[in-house]
Amino acid sequence: MPRTVFAPVALLPEGWAERVLIEFDRNGYVIKVEKGASAPAGADQCRGPVLPGMPNLHSHAFQRAMAGLAEVALNPEDSFWTWRELMYRLVGRLTPEQVEDIAHYLYIDMLKGGYTAVAEFHYLHHGPDGKPYADPAEMSRRVLHAAERAGIGITLLPVLYAHGGFGGKTPSDGQKRFINSTDSYLKLQEALARDCAVPGRRLGFCFHSLRAVTLEQIKTVMGGAGDDRPVHVHIAEQQKEVDDCLAWSGRRPIQWLYDNVGIDARWCLIHATHADAGEVAAMAGSKAVAGLCPTTEANLGDGLFPALEFLQEGGRLGIGSDSHVSLSVVEELRWLEYGQRLKHERRNRLHDSNKHVAGYLYRASLAGGAQALGQKMGAIEVGNRADLVVLDGQHPLLAHISGDDILGRWLFAGLNRMVKDVMVGGEWVVQDGRHGNEIEAGRAFAAAIEAAI
Ligand code: ZN
Repeated sequence: MPRTVFAPVALLPEGWAERVLIEFDRNGYVIKVEKGASAPAGADQCRGPVLPGMPNLHSHAFQRAMAGLAEVALNPEDSFWTWRELMYRLVGRLTPEQVEDIAHYLYIDMLKGGYTAVAEFHYLHHGPDGKPYADPAEMSRRVLHAAERAGIGITLLPVLYAHGGFGGKTPSDGQKRFINSTDSYLKLQEALARDCAVPGRRLGFCFHSLRAVTLEQIKTVMGGAGDDRPVHVHIAEQQKEVDDCLAWSGRRPIQWLYDNVGIDARWCLIHATHADAGEVAAMAGSKAVAGLCPTTEANLGDGLFPALEFLQEGGRLGIGSDSHVSLSVVEELRWLEYGQRLKHERRNRLHDSNKHVAGYLYRASLAGGAQALGQKMGAIEVGNRADLVVLDGQHPLLAHISGDDILGRWLFAGLNRMVKDVMVGGEWVVQDGRHGNEIEAGRAFAAAIEAAI
C-alpha cells in the first residue's frame, strides 16, 4: 500500500500549488504528485506549507563537539589556522562511540533546522596513534549508523588526506588520524560500497584539499571510467592557501585545479572563497557546485565568496553547515544574501528574473545540494526521495501569506522553530518540532563531551 501526504500548499518544481497529494513507495520514493486533489482518508494531513527538504552539502560531524568553544580572543592573529589547532586537540581524543553519539545528536538538530540529507566530508579515520582500527571503515560506519538512527539521508564522502601541505609535505602529528595512502583509500571505498548501496545513501570521492593530495593521487582515484560518484574538495578557503599554492605552483588553487583536472558536474568545490574573475567563470562554466558554508566562513574569518558574480555567470551553488556553529537553513541562506548586501551596500543581491531573493536562494540551494549529494532529491517530483519540510501553518507570521513570500518570511524573519514536521524518505522524523530520539541522543552527546573535552 503506497503512503500519501496531503499538503494544503506545496512548493513544486513548476511553482507553488494548492491541495497537493504526494504518494510514495515503501523505499521512500515519490510515485505520484497530484495538484488540486481532495484529501483521501488515510493520508497524512500537513498543517502548513510543504517544501522539499534541503540537502546539507558539507559536514564534519565531530566538529559539533567544539562549536562555540573557540570564540575567545587568545591570539591577536586568530584565524582558521589557530582554530585548526584547537580542532586537532579535540580530534586526538575522540573514540568511535563518541563520534557516533556526537553525529547522532548533530543529525537530529540538522533535521530540526530543515535539512533532510547530509554530505559527510569524513576524514577522521584512524585511532589516536594513527593506526587503522581492526575494521579500517569503523569510523565511516559509525557515521552511517548515526545517520540511520537519526533518520537523515547521507552521502558519505570518505576523505583522501595524504599530506600536510602543498607538494606532498609530511603530515603533522595532529593529522595522523586522517592519513591514508591511495591504496588504503581505494580499499576503504571498496569496503563501503555495499554499505551505501541502499535507498537514502550514496558514496562519493573526496579530496581534503590541494594541500593534502597530489595530482597523481587525484588522477588515480578518479581513474575509474564511467564512474558517476560525486567528488568533493575544499578549495581556496583562505588567502594563505592561495598564497601557498602560488608559491608552490605559480597558480591559484582553483586555477590549478581547472588547469590539471577535468572538473565537471560531479564536482562540489567547498568554499571557493578566494576566486578571481577567471576562476568564477571557469567554475560556472564547468557546472560544478560551489559548496558555500556562510556561517562557518564568517566564523572562521575566511572572506566572502563572489556569489553575485558567480550567479551572473550562471553558477550553481548549495549550502552546508560545515563546522556546525549553526544548524539552520535559515541562517545559511540569510548570511549568504546578507554577506553580499554588506559587501555591495545594496539590498536584494541574489535572485533571478523573478526578483524574489528567498525563492531564488531556496530553489538554487535545493538543486545544487541534490547535485552535490548525487541523489534524487531536492524537489517534490516523481522518482525523488519523499523528503519534506512542513512549516508551521499556525504561525502568525505566515498568516495570509502565499507563494515565495512564505520563504521570505521564513528565511528573513523566521527561525528554526517555524519548522514543524520533517519527513525523510517517506518517514516522519520530526513531528511538532520534536525528534523521537532527541532526549536520549542529547544525553549521550553530553556524556561524549564530558569525556572528550
Ligand atoms: Zn570543511
